[in-house]
Parts: sequence; structure tokens; C-alpha cells
Amino acid sequence: MSNPILKSLLKEYEKKRLEKQLELENKLNKFYLQNPSVSEINDKINQASIELSKTILLNKNSDKINTLNDLLDKLRSEKKELLNKLGITEDFFIPDYSCKLCNDTGYLINDNNIMCTCLKQKLLDIQYNKSNISGLESNNFDFFNLNLFSDEIDEKKYNSNISPRKNMEKIKEIALHFIDCFDNPSEKNLLFSGNTGLGKTFLTNCIANEVLKKGKTVLYQTAPVMLDSVIDYKFGKNPDFNYNDLLDVDLLIIDDLGTENINNVKLSELFNIINTRLLNQNHHITKTIISTNLSLNNLFKNYDERIFSRLVGYYNICRFFGEDLRYSK
Ligand SMILES: [Zn+2]
Repeated sequence: MSNPILKSLLKEYEKKRLEKQLELENKLNKFYLQNPSVSEINDKINQASIELSKTILLNKNSDKINTLNDLLDKLRSEKKELLNKLGITEDFFIPDYSCKLCNDTGYLINDNNIMCTCLKQKLLDIQYNKSNISGLESNNFDFFNLNLFSDEIDEKKYNSNISPRKNMEKIKEIALHFIDCFDNPSEKNLLFSGNTGLGKTFLTNCIANEVLKKGKTVLYQTAPVMLDSVIDYKFGKNPDFNYNDLLDVDLLIIDDLGTENINNVKLSELFNIINTRLLNQNHHITKTIISTNLSLNNLFKNYDERIFSRLVGYYNICRFFGEDLRYSK
């Protein structure tokens, strides 16, 4: 992780925090102008507090201290009542930070040694060019149209006794379940297999979108680019590459598996990435989606048994079939 990127991000965060704090100040100023009774009580509370501090420091007159404490209690409950009447809750006096986990500091409120996922994702976005996920606005389940898929059963053509539409309906259910149970370590990962133009990328982006909304980090990589980067990194040619991102990111999407020029080194790297993520060795739950144009048979032929057995054992395998959507408009 190169420091300049983090530094400039943290500066951005600081700016955002200040903006939110100013926003609150303006809002409160307006509110006090419109509700002078609240501001009067505030003044009284301030005066009594100062008086109390002075008394404690200087003459320690216990009668006076008790009187002032009683007065403060009375004023505070008066204020509370007044705010209740106005329908104002405590949130009203807190800046409206975009991330409630870190209050836009980039580090968790209750443990500021831990980087917040919002900052982690921003780092990934910059380092991997927007995490390589595109079209997130239009690629979401609202635009998922099952009617694009044929409802005709053609066993010979599709090698299945259900229609492409019914098949997609099932796959959509699996995808929604995957999102819902993301934090369950015994829930499986996803393997999407099928020709191009059947909606694999679209569905993958829909899932990425939902997982990001859950405050998780997401990284998209095509298999050829990912494996080339890893090999370069291992041979010292790509020092800026952060190998740990591949193991650490909450959701890793490996697209186009099977289009890379496979060799033994790449096979063992691929196995390592898949296996490390399965074992949750980083003590947090990571999930993976693999997408491939290869059929299961061809996957078995191209990849060694170790990889294949991980895929079969720990991945929900979804076979996409039907007509190429790109030509069916
Ligand atoms: Zn955050």
C-alpha cells in the first residue's frame, strides 16, 4: 500500500468531516434562532456549569455546590422536555457523517487501530481503477428482467429439463441467498459457468452492488490479469502490487476463468488464492465468485484435481444457458 494514496484519502476524509461539522453548526444556529427558548436554557446551563466549576475550585462551599447541582439537574430535564416537545432527538446534535462506523475518520469508532471498510474500499477503488466494477448504477436487481430469457424447454439444445427463464429464476434465488448469508462461513461461494451473453457479468455486478451496500469490500479481477499480476509480483516485477488484497478482500470476483494461458505456476497460484480464501485464514469471512465460459467438463480437463475439488465442494455451481442476450433485442 503506497502511503501517498492513503495520505491524500485521509485528507479528503478530514475535509468531509469538517464540512459535516460546519453543516451541523449552520443547522443548529438556525434552530436556536427559531427556538430561542432552547438557547435560553442552554445559556442558563452554561452559566450554572461555570459557576459550579468555580465554586468547586475556589471556596468548596458544599451548600452552594448542592444548590448548583440541583439547579443543573432541573435545567437539563427542562431542556429535555422542551426538545421532546419539539420532536428533536439526540441525533439532531451530531454531524450527519456519511459513514456511521467511522464517523468519516476512516478508522472504527470503537477501535481506531482498525481501518473502516469504507476506507479499505476506497483504497481498492484507486489501486485497481474503481475495483474494475463498472455500471453499478444500472447493474442492480431492479433491472433484472427474467422475461429476457426464453420460457421454452428444449432438452436437446440446453441439456436441461427446465427453461432458461426458470433456470435464471433459480440462479437469482441463489444469488440473493448468497448476499443474505454473506457472513455465514458455511455458506458456499458461487461459480457461474456458461457462454458469454447469458447475463453472468450482469448478475455478478448486481451481487457486487449489494455486497458493497452491506459495507463490504469488493474486488473484481479477470483471471488472466490477476494471475499475470501475481506471477510478476512473485518474480519482483510488480512491487506495488498488494498480493494480500486478493486474500483479504471480503468479496473477490474472478471473471473469465479459462481465458488465461494456464501453466503450472499459475495453477498453483490460483489454487493458493482459492484455498486461502476458503479457509478464512485471515480470520474474517471472505467469499469468492468465479465466472467462466468453460463447461464443467472443460474445467475439469483444464484445471488440476485440487482446484476442481475445491470448486465442486465449496461453490454453488450455476450453469447459465439460453440464447445470447446481446443479439435478442
Ligand atoms: Zn467508514
